[in-house]
Amino acid sequence: MIADQIARITSELPANCRLVAVSKFHPAEALMEAYSAGQRIFGESHVQELQAKHEALPSDIEWHFIGHLQTNKVKYIAPYVSLIHAVDTPKLLQEIEKQGAKVGRRISCLLELHVAEEESKYGFSPEECLEYLASGEWRQLAHVQIAGLMCMATNTDDESRIDRDFELARHTFDEARNRFFPDDPAFCELSMGMSHDYKLALRHGATLVRIGTTIFGERVY
Ligand SMILES: *Cc1c(COP(=O)(O)O)cnc(C)c1O
Repeated sequence: MIADQIARITSELPANCRLVAVSKFHPAEALMEAYSAGQRIFGESHVQELQAKHEALPSDIEWHFIGHLQTNKVKYIAPYVSLIHAVDTPKLLQEIEKQGAKVGRRISCLLELHVAEEESKYGFSPEECLEYLASGEWRQLAHVQIAGLMCMATNTDDESRIDRDFELARHTFDEARNRFFPDDPAFCELSMGMSHDYKLALRHGATLVRIGTTIFGERVY
């Protein structure tokens, strides 16, 4: 089942797009099933759970942190995390810099864009994101690599609304890349699309899709 879903989704992705298997709340055995099917990138959204799985599972897994990250927890994942998807404040970026310096790593991060209709506490508006990048503050952070942007679309069945959200994220990504990273190939990731909307995200050039339920089934909380 899990292997079939991974094979099916992977076959739908263009060459420049990778699958993040979102494994939060699923047991290690489920991840191992995906691993045996060739999946190497896993996304988790709780630090304790990620810690336990990182210790228990094979060392060639790329762990992505996809949830809201509290500053006081960065230190636990800094030694091994491959990509932090949802950086939502300059303060969090400063803390990642500090912890990256401690462990001698440059940690790849995506800035979280708030494009959905819902009121959310998290994420930069497109304007705030571009203003922050224009400030140039991030250029001092030697242990942070801003590798792109991430977003969640409005939680709705209205495809035209989801389409608009992804379009705005795509537009903001292109503008950020052209203005602030023209010579930096590391700024290349646009993380968007989940089980119900990844096909729309692909139309707007997602390079990372974060899919949980379709692969592993419903989560048990
Ligand atoms: C849980 C989660 C996903 C995966 O959602 P599914 O609907 O299960 O595919 C993707 N992105 C984020 C940020 C999540 O928290």
